[in-house]
Amino acid sequence: MSTPRSTELFARALRLFPGGVNSPVRSFRAVKGTPFFVARGSGARLFDVDGRAYIDYVLSWGAVILGHADPRVTAAAQRAVEKGTHYGAPVPEEVELGELVQRCMPGLERVRFVNSGTEATMSAVRLARAVTGRDLLLKFDGAYHGHADSFLVRAGSGMATLALPGSPGVPEALARLTVVVPFNDLDAVRDVFRRYPGAVAAVIVEPILGNAGLIPPCGGFLEGLRELTREHGALLIFDEVITGFRAALAGAQGRFGVVPDLTTLGKVIGGGFPIGAYGGRADLMANVAPEGPVDQAGTLAGNPVAMAAGAAILRALADERPHAALESRGRRLVDGIGELARRRGLETWGDAVGGMWGVHFTRGPVRNFGDLARADQEVFSRFFHACLRRGVYLPPSPFETCFLSSAHGDPEIESTLDVVEAALDEATS
Ligand SMILES: *Cc1c(COP(=O)(O)O)cnc(C)c1O
Repeated sequence: MSTPRSTELFARALRLFPGGVNSPVRSFRAVKGTPFFVARGSGARLFDVDGRAYIDYVLSWGAVILGHADPRVTAAAQRAVEKGTHYGAPVPEEVELGELVQRCMPGLERVRFVNSGTEATMSAVRLARAVTGRDLLLKFDGAYHGHADSFLVRAGSGMATLALPGSPGVPEALARLTVVVPFNDLDAVRDVFRRYPGAVAAVIVEPILGNAGLIPPCGGFLEGLRELTREHGALLIFDEVITGFRAALAGAQGRFGVVPDLTTLGKVIGGGFPIGAYGGRADLMANVAPEGPVDQAGTLAGNPVAMAAGAAILRALADERPHAALESRGRRLVDGIGELARRRGLETWGDAVGGMWGVHFTRGPVRNFGDLARADQEVFSRFFHACLRRGVYLPPSPFETCFLSSAHGDPEIESTLDVVEAALDEATS
């Protein structure tokens, strides 16, 4: 595939940025490739600097739910930016977006806007530690909660042991304040509460695991977390940075009917602008400065352009309710790819929830990251490149979720399945 302009830009980028990128997964390392540079996007498609078009299933890692350059979002952002970019003072746009978030997700009685999902999760954990007076944090293997030190940890050896640093630079003393257990395993959670009585401040969970493929919660798992945290005086934090407004308008908490104490948001609520939010029970949020003593601030937080874009998106989602249609298109992709793979002797496992879908080259069921780690990464890598050459852009890693926007119609799904058929022939030949 000849992409001279991307090749030239990546050579320059390598002299500037570590690995040539400003966020690691963009580098295509997991699929042993080099990235294309984007010139522009429109609806379901991306156009690269060499003039090639791709049906996009990455969609800014889930942020872009109405499709690229949606006219309603563009107009809202333009109207805002013409008045000025940011003031560091309250603006009407933040009240509007805040009220929309509150209306869609009843668990968010109070909310605070920040600039990224990482800021949202680290602030929610600080708040949880402050109000419980406890230090331990429980997270699930394979979940991603941003790049703050407390989350960049890996499981210690044996069940329910304290975690080890997951990256150089994360202090061991801090890693030991996190415990990592398998997703969908309530017994493991129970064991942590038994082993560390009165010490767990919060359980943080992606209610649908979206950073280790797409792994939905087993029946009763989220309800079980709700009961266990209540019983042991810990807070339940749903990290809905991906699932918020994507799994359903009311997020995974609306879809599964389990209301957490705190929720973190990002991605969709800014529609491609830098944003994050955390919120939840009013009595807990009352502890955040300046109402309470828990410090947390942001010079650019509540940026009017991001707020206006986010409000345009939430209004469109509330009017159009696209989630059922997104899910049925995702289901067509999962079933279609599964059938085409089976005819070529490949086993797959996949699922679709709202605007998220995923197919993995492994025999199911996949209930946690350990199950997913057995998937065939070599086949995925060949499949990824074979799709890309034919104009279908999947996430460049076997451990990511694919996304859909409301701009992906039946014609896009049909062309994608045609591409998949040819790509599977190439990947298995
Ligand atoms: C992307 C993501 C984050 C981090 O958000 P950033 O905006 O990249 O900092 C946190 N949690 C989940 C579940 C995510 O998918």
